[in-house]
Amino acid sequence: MKSDIFAAVIILSAGRGLRAGGNVPKQYALLGGAPLIRRTVEAFLDFRAAQQAGEAAASGPQIGRIIMAVNPADADLCRRALGSLSGRIELVDGGATRQDSTYNALLRLAQLPQPPAYVHIHDGARPFIRPPLLAALGCALSPHNGVVPALPVAETLKRANAQGFVSETVPRANLYAAQTPQSFPFAAILRAHEAARASGRSDFTDDSALAEAAGLPVKLIEGDSRNVKITWERDLAMADKFLQNQQMNAADTGEAGGNRPRDAVPCPDIRTGNGYDVHRLIPGDHVVLCGVKIPAAQALQGHSDADVALHALTDALLATCGAADIGAHFPPSDPRWKGADSSIFLRHAAQLIKQKGGQIINADITLIAEAPKIGPHRAAMVARLAELLELAEERISVKATTNERLGFIGREEGIAAIATANVFYRS
Ligand code: MG
Repeated sequence: MKSDIFAAVIILSAGRGLRAGGNVPKQYALLGGAPLIRRTVEAFLDFRAAQQAGEAAASGPQIGRIIMAVNPADADLCRRALGSLSGRIELVDGGATRQDSTYNALLRLAQLPQPPAYVHIHDGARPFIRPPLLAALGCALSPHNGVVPALPVAETLKRANAQGFVSETVPRANLYAAQTPQSFPFAAILRAHEAARASGRSDFTDDSALAEAAGLPVKLIEGDSRNVKITWERDLAMADKFLQNQQMNAADTGEAGGNRPRDAVPCPDIRTGNGYDVHRLIPGDHVVLCGVKIPAAQALQGHSDADVALHALTDALLATCGAADIGAHFPPSDPRWKGADSSIFLRHAAQLIKQKGGQIINADITLIAEAPKIGPHRAAMVARLAELLELAEERISVKATTNERLGFIGREEGIAAIATANVFYRS
């Protein structure tokens, strides 16, 4: 087939997806750190790019315009989910049924100065569509037939009566489960939709059923067992697990991870933050470090209790969720924090992480000071941090070093602290 023949893509994303649970329709839910619908769209964009680059020789008509049918109430949600891809996809309003949504998208294509020769119609909730199936569909298309990928039914099929008892075992020979994309000559499938509307039917569950009713031959080709439709919450959980494994395997072999968007967060979503703070030493008789009051020859100067270690750790925690730094949350200019116990700041950061679905994995603090000696207080410090962060003591580390008498720390003009924290976020 010549490369100047085009196939448009219609992605159906108008369902509200209530069966998958959650607050958003399933196609906007996160799958392996990226919205499901984004993965679906990216599969087609990647295939189109490969065709344009001449990397998909036998793949049928060139993928052209990509249109997505979206429930008007979810248009903003959809654009957010698509992110940077949003400008490369045209959205049309979905209808009350799958058939209506497809028809709206077909009409949009029909209005183009040059409508496409072919169209692939795909369920948005099938994010694992892969290049070999797209190429096989394209190659099997002709002006005289549609193409549908399908897999032989493996399970034994039962028909049930109204009481929930088996009334019949259905022979499964020659039975296939249809997948999408379903691909058709554009003008023929548009006519099939118009004929269905003219006859008052809007209950066709897929486009091959419409084609069949209109007398358009539909060729079956072998589907892809991975090209599953995410319908239930357990599907989403299983697909998420599958992607995690795939991405971990890809990381092991140094390959790109299948359909993973290039800017998706790798799974599991573990983030590292660091923090650094310094406070000046002034005349006094104690310092507060890691929430523990320690007798000393000097004191730390600061608006709060000047606990340099807790300040560094607070910054490290805030850094894991893009929450700026301690000064943004507790401005030194605010009189409320004068002499404040710095555990307030640390607890605030920990609370924020919890709200964002995060779980602190570990925290590590290095104090840099000539005096006082930290060793005798280390256990108390770890215990206090464990209490503040609600974390096992083995996940907390407090270390100290001198600065070999070098610089401002060496001259005992100040104390510095460096902190690192790891936080796991559920996506
Ligand atoms: Mg500070």
